[in-house]
Amino acid sequence: MPELPEVETLRLQMEREIVGRSISDVVVRFAGRINKTKESFAAALRSKRIRAVERRAKILRIVLDGGQSLLVHLKMSGRFLLRAAGHEPTKHTHVVFVFSDRQELHFEDARKFGYLYLMADNDVEEIFANKYGPEPLGKEMNVEKFIERLQRKPNAKIKPLLLEQEIIAGVGNIYADEACFTAKIHPTRRVREISTAELGELYTGLREALEESLRRRGTSADKFLDLYGNKGDNVQFLKVYGREGEPCMRCNTPLTKIRLGGRGTHFCENCQKI
Ligand SMILES: [Zn+2]
Repeated sequence: MPELPEVETLRLQMEREIVGRSISDVVVRFAGRINKTKESFAAALRSKRIRAVERRAKILRIVLDGGQSLLVHLKMSGRFLLRAAGHEPTKHTHVVFVFSDRQELHFEDARKFGYLYLMADNDVEEIFANKYGPEPLGKEMNVEKFIERLQRKPNAKIKPLLLEQEIIAGVGNIYADEACFTAKIHPTRRVREISTAELGELYTGLREALEESLRRRGTSADKFLDLYGNKGDNVQFLKVYGREGEPCMRCNTPLTKIRLGGRGTHFCENCQKI
C-alpha cells in the first residue's frame, strides 16, 4: 500500500504537471468509489482549474476553484498516470480527467479500494485537523512531540501504534518495520516499557526511513507506480521489510516475519529484543 513517501512522490509530480491546468472533461468508467453519481461528479469538476495538490497523511488533496477539493486515497493499488490525449484506458481505469491542453490524468485501481471524494474545503479541513495526527516530516514535528504522541497510549504495542493515523499521520507497514529495526525495538513491546531514549531513536529511524524513500521516489514493494508509470527505487534499500529468512545486515541472524495486529511484521529477533 502506498505510504507517505509514495503519496508525496506522486504529489510532487502532480504539483509540477497539473497545477494551473483546467479540466475540460471527466469520464467516469467505474463509480463504485466516488461519492457522487457519475454525472454530478463529472459536472462538478468540468471547467474547474486546479489550484494546488496537497497531501495529508496518505491522502492526496486536489484543490479546485470554487471552494471544493477532490480527496483521493490510493489504498491498496490506486494510481494516477499522466497520459497523452486519447490514450486507451485499461480495464482498471476508473476515471479519466481530460485537460484543456489535451493531456489526460488516468486514475486506475485494480483492487478497487481507492476512493475519490469531492468535498467542500471546510469539511476537508475539519477532517484533516481532527482525524489525523501530526505529519512525521512536518515543520511542527520534533522528537518531544513524537514521544508525547506515542505515550498517549502506554499500553499499546509499538508497531501497531505507529500505524494509527490519529497518533502519527502517514506511516504504514513498511516504514514502521524499518523504523523499529533501526531503533532496535521489538515490534511487540508496549510503549510504557520503552525508554524515552529508545523512542528518540525510533523518531530518528522513522524520519530516515521516510526521507530516504522519498529521495528514491518511494518503494514499489507491491503495485506502486509514479505519475509517469515508473517504479520507485527504494525497495532494494529496505533493511527488514519483505526480507524474512535473509540475514540481518547487523548480525546475520535470519530475519523473522510474524503477524501483528493483522499485518505482516518483519524484524531481527537478535537485534530487537523483547
Ligand atoms: Zn540482527
